[in-house]
Amino acid sequence: EESPGGPSQKKVVAVVGGGLVGALNACFFAKRGFDVELFETREDIRQAKIVRGRSINLALSHRGRQALKHVGMEEKIVSQGIPMHARMIHSLNGKQSPIPYGKKGQYILSVDRANLNKELLTGKNINGMKLMCRVNFVFLRSDGSEEQVEADLIVGCDGAFSAIRKQFLRRSRFNYSQTYIPHGYMELTMPPINGEFAMKPNYLHIWPRNTFMMIALPNLDKTFTCTLFMPFEEFEKITTGDEVIEFFQKYFPDAIPLIGVDALKRDYFRLPAQAMVSVKCSPYHIGSKCVLMGDAAHAVVPFYGQGMNAGFEDCIVFDEIMEQFNEDFSAVLPEYTRVRVPDDHAIADLAMYNYIEMRAHVNSKWFLFRKHIDNLLHFLMPKTIIPLYTMVTFTRTRYHEAVARWHWQDRSLAPKLSDVTCADDVCANGPLSDGRRGGWWGSFTASLVNCLNPVGVSGKRAK
Ligand code: FAD
Repeated sequence: EESPGGPSQKKVVAVVGGGLVGALNACFFAKRGFDVELFETREDIRQAKIVRGRSINLALSHRGRQALKHVGMEEKIVSQGIPMHARMIHSLNGKQSPIPYGKKGQYILSVDRANLNKELLTGKNINGMKLMCRVNFVFLRSDGSEEQVEADLIVGCDGAFSAIRKQFLRRSRFNYSQTYIPHGYMELTMPPINGEFAMKPNYLHIWPRNTFMMIALPNLDKTFTCTLFMPFEEFEKITTGDEVIEFFQKYFPDAIPLIGVDALKRDYFRLPAQAMVSVKCSPYHIGSKCVLMGDAAHAVVPFYGQGMNAGFEDCIVFDEIMEQFNEDFSAVLPEYTRVRVPDDHAIADLAMYNYIEMRAHVNSKWFLFRKHIDNLLHFLMPKTIIPLYTMVTFTRTRYHEAVARWHWQDRSLAPKLSDVTCADDVCANGPLSDGRRGGWWGSFTASLVNCLNPVGVSGKRAK
């Protein structure tokens, strides 16, 4: 097939969306020698003074790092990130307990979204046009005029509300689902104290409170970005500065002096809470012409810290298939759908599972117990038992294989105990830290059950 640039010309790839995944994809295609056109509706963030976007910082882990490595950017980005070796759990009484993410030396990195995006866009030409969802792919200039763009391949990296994906929706046999979770999120800043981080910097701080949760990731300027996750109806109940302080006093008392009373009263009302959506679809391609990647293909809730990492891995997987099929789009695109859909769907499901685990179970003794058991077994049998979190965060084990292996590990460890519930008489020895009833035995049996079958038990565990 002749390229729009003529028979002897390089093939043209139009990447729609200059966010994290679009910008990285442009690097991958440029590295292969394609003529890349990048379309972005927002102003060029390299010139923008205030960059409004979603979360201010993100956790970068192995999959994302591998993708950056492919385009020679890993070292630079890692040098600008802050390692987080463990979660730091803040209990209501102010006690802090670390839970390592993996083995010694394994960590995730807190990176600045805007900076990462700028670095990925360095040297790229951004065509400041917006994709319009019309009968065909038409781009709109800021002066209102339209342009039909010709390209050999259109790559939709235009995020969770993708205009490209809307075109897919018009077609037969395209599967699509989206789910908004009842929680919203709000970002608050914790400033430095006397020029130093207000809390230990090399941790992802978590305040799990069952229905609510707050997390904080460190930034290079010694601030922390705190993200408060809470059902929208709870956000809406708080209408005055004093109510904000009352709420924090009840649930996050140790954070009040660190964020500051005045800042809390002010910043809570600065922006409304933002929604979180999970999107699944399939296939990811139309013929040999168009493909979806990143959030456009699979927006996931942010509780596994994998949205960007999965989107970055999309770029490597596509590149690997390009290699395998000699850059023949008519073979590459269907293969990409075949390979990638099960993995992206698996991480979407896992992120939903962690939505509950992070705010509720992280708080409990059985969660800690399970982490210890997982780590101990991994230490004793490093090739046989690998904690799910390790597979997802520190390896490139395919997501759906990680889930299958997790279930297999649970099944083969011991007889299935998922139906064991903790009867009141055994669990009545005292409250667990998360408010559920249960004594040592209750927490032990529940831990064991959870350890052996974390998914199966989630709805059945002792109340
Ligand atoms: P986006 O970042 O949404 O970029 C899409 C781009 O397309 C934007 O620049 C947009 O302006 C542009 N665009 C949109 N429509 C058009 C159009 N019609 N024409 C042209 N351009 C268009 N992931 C992690 O891996 N780790 C984390 O710790 C993490 N934390 C998160 C915390 C929160 C609160 C949230 C909400 C998400 C988090 N994520 C995290 C997920 C991560 O933010 C996304 O997965 C990632 O931004 C996806 O990148 P993307 O390029 O696909 O989409």
